[in-house]
Amino acid sequence: MTIAIVGIGLIGGSLAITLKENGFAKKIIGVDIRRENIDKAIRRRLIDEERGLEEAIEESDIIVLSTPVDAMLQILPGILDLVEQQVIIDVGSTKAQLLDKVKDHPKRGRYVATHPMAGTEYSGPEAAIPNLFDGKCTVLVDLDDSDADAVAVTRRLFDSIPMRQVDLDRHSHDIHTAYVSHISHISSFALALTVLEKEQDEDRIFELASGGFSSTVRLAKSSPDMWIPIFRQNRDNVLDVLDEHINQLARFRSLLIKKDFDTFYKLIEESNQIRKILSS
Ligand code: NAP
Repeated sequence: MTIAIVGIGLIGGSLAITLKENGFAKKIIGVDIRRENIDKAIRRRLIDEERGLEEAIEESDIIVLSTPVDAMLQILPGILDLVEQQVIIDVGSTKAQLLDKVKDHPKRGRYVATHPMAGTEYSGPEAAIPNLFDGKCTVLVDLDDSDADAVAVTRRLFDSIPMRQVDLDRHSHDIHTAYVSHISHISSFALALTVLEKEQDEDRIFELASGGFSSTVRLAKSSPDMWIPIFRQNRDNVLDVLDEHINQLARFRSLLIKKDFDTFYKLIEESNQIRKILSS
């Protein structure tokens, strides 16, 4: 198959490496808004050839849309205008707005909405790595609105990696990802700011930073270019989860003020139940 990757950054580039390596893709065509990204992608052999968007659509069997989610809103309708039998797959982190935008498009069936649940805090073609998706889960969204053959090709693509697949509707997807992904980023940004503020007074603090600190604050290295469009599109769900998170922080604060360490102990024990989710 010939696969066009539109937005050859961390996710698009990693997918390109994987699908070329496992033989699912014979040729990868790269499309990106920035010349420099294309040059890096060629140097790193992420893509075989570069094209403009229209040519890439014409020459490909599958078009993978892996730009930030605000750009997807702009370019997906135009891609749908141009496709015949090709399949378009997006890998964006939010779904409701994008799916609403194209719900009445006459070619809607050629598009399959997906969200591979894997990533790192880095971005751009230099961040693309092999094996990023191995054994992880991908969400397939609102499949009833996609053509059966387009869904079948998409499932084969993710099976080839291999990735587990979970089917959800767009609203459930956006709520679940607010819980398992978006809130942890806000939490990490806030923690980084907290510590950076403190560091202004005590410049040795980073010498003391250990594994626990690094792993908790790792996501704060993520790019605002990718995250602001996500928070803009999933604002209501993220606000709900953030309110709950602030309540939990306030609970810990109040226990500390009251020196109620017995309840604090129980809350930590309760939070340890997260092992059940993370080990499955
Ligand atoms: P990324 O590394 O920044 O890659 C996005 C690429 O798209 C960049 O090369 C960017 O160029 C380019 N681009 C921007 N606008 C474009 C346009 N209109 N046409 C063509 N190319 C364009 O971001 P990423 O982390 O791979 O994320 C890509 C998508 O995957 C996002 O929708 C994100 O929500 C989703 N996702 C991310 C993760 C994660 O953990 N990172 C996980 C799952 C899904 P410039 O950088 O020069 O603007």
